[in-house]
Amino acid sequence: MSGQLERIRGALIGLRMPRALEALEHILARLERGEITAVEAIDALLGEEYATREGRRIEVALRTAKLMPIKTLESFDFSFQPSLDRERIAALAQLDFVRRAEVVHFLGPPGTGKSHLATALGVAAVKAGRTVYRATLAELIEALSQAERSGRLPEKIRFYSRASLLIVDEIGYLPITRGGANLFFQLVNARYEKGAMILTSNRGFAEWGDVFGDPVVATALLDRLLHHAVVVQIEGASYRLRAHADLIPEHVRANAPIMPPPPPKRRGRPPKLKNGAADH
Ligand code: ADP
Ligand code: MG
Repeated sequence: MSGQLERIRGALIGLRMPRALEALEHILARLERGEITAVEAIDALLGEEYATREGRRIEVALRTAKLMPIKTLESFDFSFQPSLDRERIAALAQLDFVRRAEVVHFLGPPGTGKSHLATALGVAAVKAGRTVYRATLAELIEALSQAERSGRLPEKIRFYSRASLLIVDEIGYLPITRGGANLFFQLVNARYEKGAMILTSNRGFAEWGDVFGDPVVATALLDRLLHHAVVVQIEGASYRLRAHADLIPEHVRANAPIMPPPPPKRRGRPPKLKNGAADH
């Protein structure tokens, strides 16, 4: 018995299963006292190790994918965004669109949860074992331009093409140069029908000519990005500003899609809000 126990310990060390090794004695004691069956003991031993490893894998993958701070569908308040079909988002979370290399567009004004939903789907994909990478369009184009300057563009495009899901956030906030639009087109073309994408934008597709500074490139981009695509339009109020709705002038509230950036933070104590709730 003690010889066998030593062999099990040696095997767990050799297999690099430190969490199982730690739990071994406790699980065996419970087995001997008849508190658990043999199958439950094996389940507990492997389960401990597996849970620890999965937790670590997911954390590393979320960090690598740039999905921190993490967002989930559970923490999304659908009642705040009635234009959004909860079932449709739940269906996306099944990740068939990733397998089929499709494109999901989240469109809507600032603060309506586009990045939240994109990140939450990315997190779901990481948990399901898929490789994910998230960046803003500006970050992506900056990285591609840098790679181009140092003669490593093909390598960089290969890097972004490897992820089974690429999330491109914040299309439309910053103007893109013609060169930048061209680099993004090369990436989209490389991924076309090979890898899934989620795009978020505050601008409608009709405005992409302006966004990308070139109607020809914009048309070519849309040609690929709308071919196998799901478009989710959110038409609600900003969640960021929900506690401050009474501070926003009427004419701005009425034109929600072009909300100005919030006023610069004042020094000293924050102003007291009528309903006492502050946004975080
Ligand atoms: P967008 O990308 O559309 O500008 P975000 O997804 O960044 O908006 O949302 C702004 C903030 O509000 C984030 O912290 C996000 O987690 C939160 N948020 C937005 N909508 C909701 C919602 N319906 N329920 C819970 N949190 C939300
Ligand atoms: Mg956003």
